[in-house]
Amino acid sequence: MSISKVGVIGAGQMGNGIAHVLSLAEYEVILSDVSQDALDNARTQIEANMARQASRGKITEGDMQAALGRIHTTLSLPEIGTTDLVIEAATERETIKQAIFEDLQPHLLPHTILTSNTSSISITRLASGTDRPERFMGFHFMNPVPIMQLVELIRGIATDEPTFKACKEVVDRLGKTAASAEDFPAFIVNRILMPMINEAVYTLYEGVGSVQSIDQSMKLGANHPMGPLELADFIGLDTCLAIMNVLHDGLADTKYRPCPLLTKYVEAGWLGRKTQRGFYDYRGETPVPTR
Ligand code: NAD
Repeated sequence: MSISKVGVIGAGQMGNGIAHVLSLAEYEVILSDVSQDALDNARTQIEANMARQASRGKITEGDMQAALGRIHTTLSLPEIGTTDLVIEAATERETIKQAIFEDLQPHLLPHTILTSNTSSISITRLASGTDRPERFMGFHFMNPVPIMQLVELIRGIATDEPTFKACKEVVDRLGKTAASAEDFPAFIVNRILMPMINEAVYTLYEGVGSVQSIDQSMKLGANHPMGPLELADFIGLDTCLAIMNVLHDGLADTKYRPCPLLTKYVEAGWLGRKTQRGFYDYRGETPVPTR
């Protein structure tokens, strides 16, 4: 199965990063969204990120212009149907993702592989709503996509070997490393990372340490490049809470219960960097701990 044209659905922070790396690897990319603003912002973001790579000598000006020329943006979902591989990276809500695959289905080529970049939703359940569960899998990039080396490839219960191989070849051509994961809640990275972040929030909630002492402890004591609370703000506290809820519901174990303080931050709308406030306040020149 040879893949040359890839459709990316959702032009948010993940979708624009995915289009960025695919176009540099010489895939033709169709990037779609329901919002023209999201498409415009994605193009601006991709140009800025590629310009930064060019200024550091990682790519040439010619590579950048050629890659930008390979990205076509559209508000029309049916256009995505003409691709060999679809990577869905829309908002993390199961009803939205299901509706996208349902609307897309009549326009697909028979051989098109469908994938989702979901952080936590069951691949088997998403696949079961399509006409091709054997050609459906999880294609989970890490944020920020141009920088992070790993891609988790998640097989649903019905995913066939040629589909896995075709996706693995794409990961190889991107110069990234694939980790194969089974379809259980939050897969590998978030299954391990989120309980650690949640535990850091409990540590704060119980007064064991302040925001600063918790982050400093894990940076200097465990050699983590970012503290867990700083990382939670980067990921988005709503996303962290959603993943903890998926782990709690899906594995039915109280060890995954989300910390009430994490819920409180989300209820306040303090979602981390994207809303300028989370465990740190980002409105000034340097981040200030909020507890
Ligand atoms: P985001 O909010 O930045 O972007 C989502 C985009 O989807 C928006 O532009 C929105 O307009 C668009 N969208 C919504 N409904 C749509 C529809 N029906 N059709 C087309 N586009 C639609 O979100 P994000 O952080 O880029 O996350 C996208 C996906 O990637 C989610 O499934 C998320 O779990 C996953 N993911 C996120 C991260 C992360 O760190 N943020 C990491 C790995 C995976």
